[in-house]
Amino acid sequence: MDRDFDVIIIGSGAGGGTLAHALSTTGKKILIIERGDYLPREKANWDPGAVFIENRYHTHEKWYDKDGKGFTPGMNYYVGGNTKVYGAALLRLRKTDFEEVKHYGGTSPAWPLSYEDFQPYYLKAEELYTVHGTRGEDPTEPPESEPYYYPAVSHEPHIQKLSDSIEQMKIKTFHLPMAIRLNEQDREKSKCIRCDTCDGFPCLVHAKSDAHIACILPALQSGNVTLLTNAKAMRLIPNDSGKIIEQVEIEKDGKKIRLKASTFIVSCGAVNSAALMLRSKHDKHPNGLANQNDMVGRHYMFHNNSAMIAVSTEYNPTIFQKTMAINDYYHGADDSDLPLGHIQLLGKVKKQMLAADAPVFAPGLALDYLANHCMGWWLTSEDLPLPENRVTLNENGDISLQYTANNLEAHERLLKKLKSILKNLGGHTHFFPNKLYLSQHIPLAGCAHQAGTLRFGQDPRNSVLDLDCKAHGIDNLYVVDASFMPAVGAVNPSLTIIANALRVADILKSRI
Ligand SMILES: Cc1cc2nc3c(=O)[nH]c(=O)nc-3n(C[C@H](O)[C@H](O)[C@H](O)COP(=O)(O)OP(=O)(O)OC[C@H]3O[C@@H](n4cnc5c(N)ncnc54)[C@H](O)[C@@H]3O)c2cc1C
Ligand code: SF4
Repeated sequence: MDRDFDVIIIGSGAGGGTLAHALSTTGKKILIIERGDYLPREKANWDPGAVFIENRYHTHEKWYDKDGKGFTPGMNYYVGGNTKVYGAALLRLRKTDFEEVKHYGGTSPAWPLSYEDFQPYYLKAEELYTVHGTRGEDPTEPPESEPYYYPAVSHEPHIQKLSDSIEQMKIKTFHLPMAIRLNEQDREKSKCIRCDTCDGFPCLVHAKSDAHIACILPALQSGNVTLLTNAKAMRLIPNDSGKIIEQVEIEKDGKKIRLKASTFIVSCGAVNSAALMLRSKHDKHPNGLANQNDMVGRHYMFHNNSAMIAVSTEYNPTIFQKTMAINDYYHGADDSDLPLGHIQLLGKVKKQMLAADAPVFAPGLALDYLANHCMGWWLTSEDLPLPENRVTLNENGDISLQYTANNLEAHERLLKKLKSILKNLGGHTHFFPNKLYLSQHIPLAGCAHQAGTLRFGQDPRNSVLDLDCKAHGIDNLYVVDASFMPAVGAVNPSLTIIANALRVADILKSRI
């Protein structure tokens, strides 16, 4: 393989995959380095036991918590990164998420750019990832005059009934924007078969718009892009002045190889990108690249997330369930001036998912019964970017993730709101009589929404990247994964990562 490229992109997930696609038409020679392989296409893709009990697609590597205790992170290292198994709910941050916001646990900082700076890229991102939605339903959605390119995914009857009942309580529901290739008008032509194994599963028929399908495959067809799989970037090597990255050292098939490029893009996910920067020590960067102010790895966030299962005596026949969400508590509530967060339906809950948490999820009830009579909800509240919540490397060079939870009151209140909605539903539709609520706060290993370790900003004293997502003090090093985010809001992060990668691609087109 030729070892010289115009651009080397490290990581092929939401950020790196999108950037590769956007640059693939520039005529420049681009190499993508991905530590994982293609995710195998096999029947197990849709087997809940394989996916949720055997954790077939998770990494086996160990990270360490603040007490030095090892854990296996829920990370998926494949072409397409974590988007291979994501739920494909692609929402924009709210306009206020770009501003300073007071929370129960403190203040979330303003971004150095506004929603308006991101707006055109959100629109492009929604087109690229075939997001299906309806504007005007979500009371908190940020301004956008253009409609979605694809119509919202319809509710199945059970969910429509639920939505109608919630609306009768004067609570607004909306169709969750979904990145799937579903054609409900012409099912024969639809790539998506609207199945019950989507959220958390890979898509066996390649109908989910993940970074692999939406970006990497078309980018490879351009002829300008090369993809190197099973190749882990170990460190970036600058020139003597420390201002220009000259090479990346990778490990492939047990061998170390060095590759050269004019421009380097890091996009390994917020934790691994910070680790790569920390591993890349050099005379001019003794604490790791761009770490002169000890900012690399700090301000780690991953949301306060809970999965909640509401069990009813009524059978739930829904197949594709992830179609509805509620944002009425995003900015506050009747009894709260401060934000609580976002609520969305989970995909279909399978008994194997409950079995994986059997001691938590009411062992007395038969799992089959539970799975057939329950509805899964996903609740997200913002966590704040605290400097002490950080990624470091331990003495063996392994990843250490030090995190103390914060802003939990918002999340507790949000959980209570959902429980109260479900309790009150009984009066209208006899949904959820004899309800049983089981909720589980997502632990440190559930780092799906990781963000914030290399945040962008104007001041190098408290940020790692400048507003173009270029590392402060290094001329040719950019970062486009979730690590650039200075605050994470309370909606799923991927659309913002994708929009930012498109924004950085526009900047790079005149520089590479
Ligand atoms: C089960 C699950 C459900 C989710 N559902 C949603 C959802 O519904 N909506 C949403 O918005 N988000 C969702 N997410 C989160 C979403 O997947 C992430 O926010 C997004 O993928 C992050 O993008 P990224 O570019 O930062 O990193 P990733 O997508 O994780 O990409 C990083 C890539 O870098 C590679 N890599 C890492 N280290 C190296 C190295 N040293 N050398 C070479 N390559 C490397 C990895 O293998 C990976 O391919 C979900 C995640 C999970 C796990
Ligand atoms: S619902 Fe559609 S996109 Fe999701 S896994 Fe099934 S076929 Fe794939």
